[in-house]
Amino acid sequence: MELQLRAASSFASPKQRGRLRHYSGRNVRCPSCGHDDSRVLDSRAAEDGAAVRRRRQCLKCDTRFTTYERIDELPVYVMKRSGDKEPFDRLKIVAGLGSATKGRPVTAQDLDDLATSVEDAMRLTGGDVTSAQVGQAVLERLRKLDEVAYLRFASVYKGFDEASDFQREITLLEKRTAAKPRKKK
Ligand SMILES: [Zn+2]
Repeated sequence: MELQLRAASSFASPKQRGRLRHYSGRNVRCPSCGHDDSRVLDSRAAEDGAAVRRRRQCLKCDTRFTTYERIDELPVYVMKRSGDKEPFDRLKIVAGLGSATKGRPVTAQDLDDLATSVEDAMRLTGGDVTSAQVGQAVLERLRKLDEVAYLRFASVYKGFDEASDFQREITLLEKRTAAKPRKKK
């Protein structure tokens, strides 16, 4: 799967590039009236995650239109523990979460959003990242999404090579869950 994130994000300034996920919708000119502020009605991954498709509504004339946002950046490189460097791969994150989330109430869209969020976070660091950073970013998001999936993933994620970090996460989670006991079925 080719995953080069490039091409045009014609309405994003250099400062906005790399933060497209958090982009509120300003400066997108309405095709009908030319007004440059719009409301995002819906966002979803497109082109196998290489782009974000947004339905927008002009704040002035209410015309609805669609934009595709593509990240116009060099790939983010991940430094592996072995010393190898490889481009960040969203699909790898999604695939890695597949088994952890099996049978859990987590949708494909959830996973896609999570991977995109991780990629954005890594991109915003502005340089190469380590596999441990990626693992940590995944874990933080997965914990909010589903605690069971989080624990499963944490125990198998090979890139998460800081054992002490993992132990700290588990301890934090245990404290949290102990504070609000679950009902037994
Ligand atoms: Zn308009």
